[in-house]
Amino acid sequence: MNHVPVCAKCQQDMVCAKNGVAVLDVTGDGTDYKITMADKWKCNICGCEVVVGFAQHALVHHYEPRFAAAIEFLSNKGLLVRARAAGPSKLFCADNVEKGA
Ligand SMILES: [Zn+2]
Repeated sequence: MNHVPVCAKCQQDMVCAKNGVAVLDVTGDGTDYKITMADKWKCNICGCEVVVGFAQHALVHHYEPRFAAAIEFLSNKGLLVRARAAGPSKLFCADNVEKGA
């Protein structure tokens, strides 16, 4: 990241609120897909929060045996952020989701 996030509404640099949040990608049909680590930033004026600075590789995918345990662990730690798909994405392979692989 070559610039910290900026709150467009307040026209102010944001501050890092939490290094190491776990983003759980959820497909359009509500299927949990994968978890990727990232950072949460916050605007100190309006309180708006964004998650950016994603790791290059996912921490765990839905087809790995430890996936459900990872969700529970990270959720209990207050580190899990659910990210529902806003629309069709090439990241989500419908074929794999249907198989539950
Ligand atoms: Zn703001």
